[in-house]
Amino acid sequence: MGHLRNDTCRVCKGSDLTRILSLGEHPPVDNFTDAEHLKDEKRYPLDVYFCGTCNLVQLLDVVAEDELFHGEYAYFSSASAPLVEHFRSYAEDLKNEQLQSGDLVIDIGSNDGVLLQNFVENYRVLGIEPSSNVAEIARQKGIETIDGFFTVEMAKKIVETHGKAKVVTANNVFAHIDDVDEIIRAVQELLTPDGVFVSESHYLLDLIEHREFDTVYHEHLCYYSVKPLIHLFDRFDMEVFDVRRIDVHGGSIRVYARRKSNAPVHSRVQDILSIEEQAGIHSLTRFNDFQKEVEEIRDKLVTLVRSFRKEGKIVTAYGAPAKGNTLLNFCGFNSHDIKYVTDTTPYKIGLLTPGSHIPVESPEILKTDTPDYILLLAWNYKDFILKKEQELRDRGAKFIIPIPTVEIV
Ligand SMILES: [Zn+2]
Repeated sequence: MGHLRNDTCRVCKGSDLTRILSLGEHPPVDNFTDAEHLKDEKRYPLDVYFCGTCNLVQLLDVVAEDELFHGEYAYFSSASAPLVEHFRSYAEDLKNEQLQSGDLVIDIGSNDGVLLQNFVENYRVLGIEPSSNVAEIARQKGIETIDGFFTVEMAKKIVETHGKAKVVTANNVFAHIDDVDEIIRAVQELLTPDGVFVSESHYLLDLIEHREFDTVYHEHLCYYSVKPLIHLFDRFDMEVFDVRRIDVHGGSIRVYARRKSNAPVHSRVQDILSIEEQAGIHSLTRFNDFQKEVEEIRDKLVTLVRSFRKEGKIVTAYGAPAKGNTLLNFCGFNSHDIKYVTDTTPYKIGLLTPGSHIPVESPEILKTDTPDYILLLAWNYKDFILKKEQELRDRGAKFIIPIPTVEIV
């Protein structure tokens, strides 16, 4: 129950850890609530640390599994058109570079099969997804999916029934797991001798340069750059042989790893390490002013929203993603500042946002209601959403974009 606090780095196990950002105490971002349960709401510290040894940026406070929401709420990747397109192009890269027809592809955290659906024609696929209702959607699409948490034990059973995989992928799951060693060991069980492990994670360099502080939340334990990932794989006799920057989730990295070999390592690996070095994210000094930079964004947003409210303007918010709740809570917003938040997720509609207690409404409300200002919490889909909501903007609603710099459009 409650939460644990690590005192060593998740990747190198060292203890040279320095706090680089403190966002205060927040409830877990997926714990939407209602009027009856407000008194049960718990808050935990949201503090970010830098490891002086391997340079991993991470949370040390780990909220217990049973304090995090795992109920009926399900996030379906295929509900997002830009994500569907991202995974389609990701699959093309793997087909062109890593796979031959008939090979087995296993996706850890496979969601509703958004990546694997691109392989069903010429390859064998297997998904692993912890939420059983999400796994069921994938099965309905014809994608064999195991529901459960990925462990060494599960990997051994998979090898018995399916054989080994040429490609194992894990997207936006690696950062959410406290015991990263277990994942790597389990991946090693699954891979053929020349198999490739590909993972995508939100990229620390984008987080720092675009001040994406709202991507910090309890479920998101690690904020990866390439250097600590090289360190991590090295401990398991694996090597990073290719890496790409990807324009998804506010900026991500896709990292390709394999067992150590004499095969060439792509020059992109050294190139990106040099970029990280030049950007200063391998050194604590780069983070000296980060707290101040983040507080500047908060102060600007709070001043703006409260001045609009003083003028009698109606302010609402758009999208209630995990990161939106970090932003709302760090700003100290409540339902007096933000009248409601619209979100398409059926489970969230009718509930209150965690901590800030703002009502969540169906996007239908915007067909008749025209707020003066709409705070765009799902800012990573800014271009897509502004285009989609042109009619609402024609009616006079203006969007407030919070990240990377506060602007009104
Ligand atoms: Zn470390």
